[in-house]
Amino acid sequence: MKNILSLLPKVDVILNDNRIINFLDKYPRSYVIDVIRTVIDNYRKKILKGYIQEVNYEEIVMDICNQLEINYRPSLRRVINATGTVIHTNLGRSPISKYALERVMEIGGRYNNLEYNLEEGKRGSRYSHVEKIICKITGAEAAMVVNNNAAAVMLVLSTIAKNKEVIVSRGQLVEIGGSFRIPLVMEQSGAILKEIGTTNRTHLYDYENAINENTAAILKVHQSNYKILGFTEEVSIEDLIELKKKYNLPLIEDIGSGVFIDLSKYGLTYEPTVQNSIKKGVDVVTFSGDKLLGGPQAGIIIGKKDLIQRMKKNQLTRALRIDKFTLAALEATLNLYLDEEKVIKEVPILNMLTLNSEELKRRANKLLRTLKKVIKDDRAKIAIKEDYSTVGGGAMPLETIPTYAVFVEPKNKKVEMVEQELRKCEIPVVVRVSKNNIIMDVRTLFEDDYIVIQKNLDSIL
Ligand SMILES: *Cc1c(COP(=O)(O)O)cnc(C)c1O
Repeated sequence: MKNILSLLPKVDVILNDNRIINFLDKYPRSYVIDVIRTVIDNYRKKILKGYIQEVNYEEIVMDICNQLEINYRPSLRRVINATGTVIHTNLGRSPISKYALERVMEIGGRYNNLEYNLEEGKRGSRYSHVEKIICKITGAEAAMVVNNNAAAVMLVLSTIAKNKEVIVSRGQLVEIGGSFRIPLVMEQSGAILKEIGTTNRTHLYDYENAINENTAAILKVHQSNYKILGFTEEVSIEDLIELKKKYNLPLIEDIGSGVFIDLSKYGLTYEPTVQNSIKKGVDVVTFSGDKLLGGPQAGIIIGKKDLIQRMKKNQLTRALRIDKFTLAALEATLNLYLDEEKVIKEVPILNMLTLNSEELKRRANKLLRTLKKVIKDDRAKIAIKEDYSTVGGGAMPLETIPTYAVFVEPKNKKVEMVEQELRKCEIPVVVRVSKNNIIMDVRTLFEDDYIVIQKNLDSIL
């Protein structure tokens, strides 16, 4: 045993190995030495326990290389989304457009006029950079932006309804995932929830009966991530507008996913647009920047000028404010909306949602050919099948959009193993699994993902 132990390579020898020298350019020397020591130590332990009888230098070096790579991988990494869920809540929701990314690079890496009025040479407001364009697109009088929609709801309620009652239907008290619940967010704002109606039915008289001298606002929350079907009734926005006028109360709408475009033109279910709510006369509308809008994480608040003005002055605003990266990406995304054709092409999620079946089929064929080039029939059966994508991100919960997917049925490995190993690749691939098949929906893939999937599957299978 002593003999075997003495054959273990010395740290200095390994440090001079060409493969390790490469790492010394990238990583601190002390870190590389630590990893070398740890790996050699592990081998020593295995020898002492009698698990190994000889020293394989190549194996040790490869082990060290692997460890160096894995330990130094960033925690937040690019992932390939083959699930077909376009706005995937766990996979970063909306990927942003190239144009928005370029703007983040330009603004983030340099000084900028975030809070500087270049015309007057004095302090400016960060919200000014997007307010005009939001108003132009939505038709609202005023706008501001905070960290996310939950923050937006909180700020609105804290400004309008602190210590006062806000009327909301029980059919609209939503949980938005990650165990966050709108009712609890509302309570944190200091507003008092006045729940009315029942889960499935709320009538106009429920609202009217709940109004008293302590009522500050009526809140409508869009049922974005669920549907109540069957014996149901919800009060229309038109009726709520009549009511709020009669009692001179502000009507607030949390619309969830901010859609600026009528998506029914592209064969999807009509999702109420932000413009529609403003046109009808809703006083304040809030929505997310990274759901159907396709921009960065943000909570956009639009509506009546006097109300927005009060929100800007609320001390909470400082805690919820967005940073320059968000503003740069948001302004860029909003700019794309000035041209509908352009926004559909450039904003990834809108592009994915509106792909036609011919294009999807072409892409599925391309992925199929890419895979078959290296993976022959003895390793997997690969085929194209019709399938369904979903919108995700708490939008259009019942919508299933016809798509094409590539099905891979491994011949020599359990499908669960393949799924797991795909997740552990340097560029992980998240797939669906069904009946011995890995399913990859081409709708949510970028075309340069194909070659990565090929490489990953080739090594796994
Ligand atoms: C998604 C959603 C929210 C939360 O938005 P975030 O941007 O995730 O904070 C709030 N309300 C509704 C109706 C939603 O759909």
